[in-house]
Amino acid sequence: MIKSLLYLFSFIFIINFSSAQTYKQVKIYLSDHDDVNQLYQAGLDFDHPHLTKDNAIIVFIDEDDYALLKSSGFNYEVLIEDWIEYYENLPVLSDAEREEVLNQTQRDFSVSGFGFGSMGGFYTFDEAIAELDTMFMLYPDIITEKVSIGTSIDGRQIYMVKISDNPGVSESEPQVLYTALHHAREPESMMQMIYFMYYLLENYSTNAEAQYLIDNREIYFIPVLNPDGYEYNRQTDPNGGGMWRKNRRNNGGSYGVDLNRNYGPYEYWNAPNGGSSTDPGDDTYRGTAPFSEPETAAIRDFLASKNLKNALNYHTYSNLLIYPYGALEHETADSLIFREFASDMTIFNGYVYGTDQQTVGYSTRGNSDDYYYDG
Ligand SMILES: [Zn+2]
Repeated sequence: MIKSLLYLFSFIFIINFSSAQTYKQVKIYLSDHDDVNQLYQAGLDFDHPHLTKDNAIIVFIDEDDYALLKSSGFNYEVLIEDWIEYYENLPVLSDAEREEVLNQTQRDFSVSGFGFGSMGGFYTFDEAIAELDTMFMLYPDIITEKVSIGTSIDGRQIYMVKISDNPGVSESEPQVLYTALHHAREPESMMQMIYFMYYLLENYSTNAEAQYLIDNREIYFIPVLNPDGYEYNRQTDPNGGGMWRKNRRNNGGSYGVDLNRNYGPYEYWNAPNGGSSTDPGDDTYRGTAPFSEPETAAIRDFLASKNLKNALNYHTYSNLLIYPYGALEHETADSLIFREFASDMTIFNGYVYGTDQQTVGYSTRGNSDDYYYDG
């Protein structure tokens, strides 16, 4: 659907994750690369594994998957028995420590608008949207007022803003898109985005790079793509740590569709690679059809109205930079460009980059990256 080249990445970050199910963090030891596929074929339903140097993966799994793991024959170690109990006992920054963190970011990066939210330090949905309003109030010459690109299942707005010079005008500058919170339990994906936005806005008049980007790009941001799932986590775990991942579709007996398995086209969504679940109760449930969910349909329509050159969908956690394809067993025709971009983008953080198979070791289907690229 997108005619021009669209380079698309998923940036997978640090942690912060929980809910009705008890989740464990486990370390599973692998003997070869194909073991991850075998875990998938055994019916384990995890995502965003963290790869370790001693050839293991660290993942969060619910009780059903833990039962499967126990009978799978794999060697494993339980690192965290009960995630929520663990989370609630983590040390909390004192007011003075918080103050120092904020002072330091002001000193080192000239960012002062960013702060701590009320949900374990993370912004709630309302707080994140209020930040967009604050940005527009302070910097109306380089950011638009928030615009809704669609409505979630439970009727919440999916907001977008654009940062650029002359933000109210459509200029012929390359367009790029950043999204966060496809998955509701990954608040760091949104927090780092709000931070980056403040960095651009507050440094525009003093930093040549920020100024160049704002003057020469149309930069779109969608910080909360899955507002219902994110709000559900706030309701169940108001101090953070909620583990709900999907949206809040009522499947009749279970809830939620994995928005990052619900994109089209049909051939990708239904690729014969097991890269999503057809069981509505699973965390990677793909939904009844491509774009069955209003959240992914909103993004589809937004993309159709733009001519994006590049996009980055943020997730947590794993320290990976992933590019297409997830649904197909090969790289794209633009793989050399993807590799060059990815190499540059990971110079400082050292993230591992590649396709799903090359990084996490399993395939996905119906994911955002494939659709944005050539879906
Ligand atoms: Zn994710």
